[in-house]
Amino acid sequence: MTKVYNFMNEMDQEVINFLGSEIKNGKIVIFPTETVYGIGANIFDPFAVDRIFDFKGRANDNPLIVHISDKIMLNDIVFPYSDVERKLIDAFMPGPFTIILNKRDCVNKYVTGGLNTVGVRMPSNIVARKLIKAAGVPIAAPSANLSGKPSGTNIDDVYDEFNGKVDYIIDYGDSDIGLESTVVKVIDGIPVILRPGKITPEDIIEVVGAVKVHDTVLKPADLNEKVESPGVKYKHYAPEAKTLLIYSDYCSYFKEAIKNYIIPNTCIIGPEEWKNDFDCKYYVSYGSENNLSEISKKIYKSIRLADSYKPDFIIIVGVSDKGEGLAIMNRLLRASSYNFVNIDKFRQNKV
Ligand code: AMP
Ligand code: MG
Repeated sequence: MTKVYNFMNEMDQEVINFLGSEIKNGKIVIFPTETVYGIGANIFDPFAVDRIFDFKGRANDNPLIVHISDKIMLNDIVFPYSDVERKLIDAFMPGPFTIILNKRDCVNKYVTGGLNTVGVRMPSNIVARKLIKAAGVPIAAPSANLSGKPSGTNIDDVYDEFNGKVDYIIDYGDSDIGLESTVVKVIDGIPVILRPGKITPEDIIEVVGAVKVHDTVLKPADLNEKVESPGVKYKHYAPEAKTLLIYSDYCSYFKEAIKNYIIPNTCIIGPEEWKNDFDCKYYVSYGSENNLSEISKKIYKSIRLADSYKPDFIIIVGVSDKGEGLAIMNRLLRASSYNFVNIDKFRQNKV
């Protein structure tokens, strides 16, 4: 049985305390964060952590991000870190930011997919922070979605996939950001973005003067090489239907070009401003073309909505990969299994 608590109008500290103790005692709680919903377990309880992998159908070598409520908890689970890492932590925690650090022995490798490092995040969402504090232990929490699917960003999507499996769900409305955290690992003194998010490369440069974006952010991982972020090996964020991503930074006939790809029973996912411009069966708006934050917030819900129409083909209109757009394009490239057309280059990839 799954019990749902609604915290949208009121957050009861007694319930938080209760849920915190339940997590500590091995129960699984889906809770809101500012990025996406997380499915959480006590990191020190191997059986609870195992249930997360089981419920999601997640590969065991795909590490979980560990969520903390304060820096004391951080120092309990990682070894002392460098100056660059400290600056990043001071600047971006709490917030939509995960840093990979060397783990202490108390963090078992079943949490970290066998790695000696652990990804740590301190959410800014008030419910998440209070819950972790009430639990008194760090909470391992991947995104609340079946492996391979878009992350859960609202109660309906989460409930569909996990009702009857997890012990508790906290409903706190739509996630503010809608895309998962920026994951950074400092390598040879330079922050390397393994997964882009709301914290952009520009934000990181402002703090430490340097940043690299890992090759796998906009390209498929080369499985013959060492993979820095195991999550990139797996299919992710994908709709059921065959999907094509089309994008252009400056092409004036972009919209016309898209029309060439429409087949019967196509669903286009694109900007609100374009919703009447195509002769296709379904159109799902992901928000204004001028508002990347809105698109981040709505993109996963849009993909799930498109899927619910059971189209034969989905076309997603891409955005610029600058600023917050980098995170959106990273997810869309993976959602489409790198089946994309860049109209500017007129280069076709694998359609
Ligand atoms: P999710 O839990 O679904 O938000 O995905 C977590 C992401 O963080 C995955 O892409 C992981 O590969 C990445 N990640 C977590 N921990 C580590 C780690 N220790 N080293 C590298 N990447 C990590
Ligand atoms: Mg995920």
